[in-house]
Amino acid sequence: MAYDRNNIFARILRGEIPAKRIYEDSYALAFHDINPQAKTHALVIPKGAYLSMADFAANASEAEIAGLFRAVGKVATMLGLEDSGYRILANHGPDSHQEVPHLHIHIFGGQKLGRMIQPA
Ligand code: 5GP
Repeated sequence: MAYDRNNIFARILRGEIPAKRIYEDSYALAFHDINPQAKTHALVIPKGAYLSMADFAANASEAEIAGLFRAVGKVATMLGLEDSGYRILANHGPDSHQEVPHLHIHIFGGQKLGRMIQPA
């Protein structure tokens, strides 16, 4: 599957669609999810055009990989979740219900979280 440069997160990166931005650096952008599944629900995305974790792991530079994961840790701290705890998650492909074909890492927190995986 080829990267669709008009996916919603590519459009947020280009500033064509607004988002409640939390953090941005050379490698990553973080913003609040439009349909939060927890009291705090943020998304952290790489600035590069990567479809999924598999694409990112295979094709991103080491600086991009480090940059994304540093941003995830930084954003969780900025959101005040370091002591209370949080969960990170990245969906890949149909079984996971990945909706947006641009790699994104979800951060959930601000409340007690349920089981790690809900029964199907
Ligand atoms: P996925 O299911 O692909 O892992 O997650 C995609 C996430 O993107 C969903 O949680 C959805 O609510 C969020 N989302 C979809 N469109 C938008 C948007 O336009 N703005 C923001 N902030 N989040 C979005």
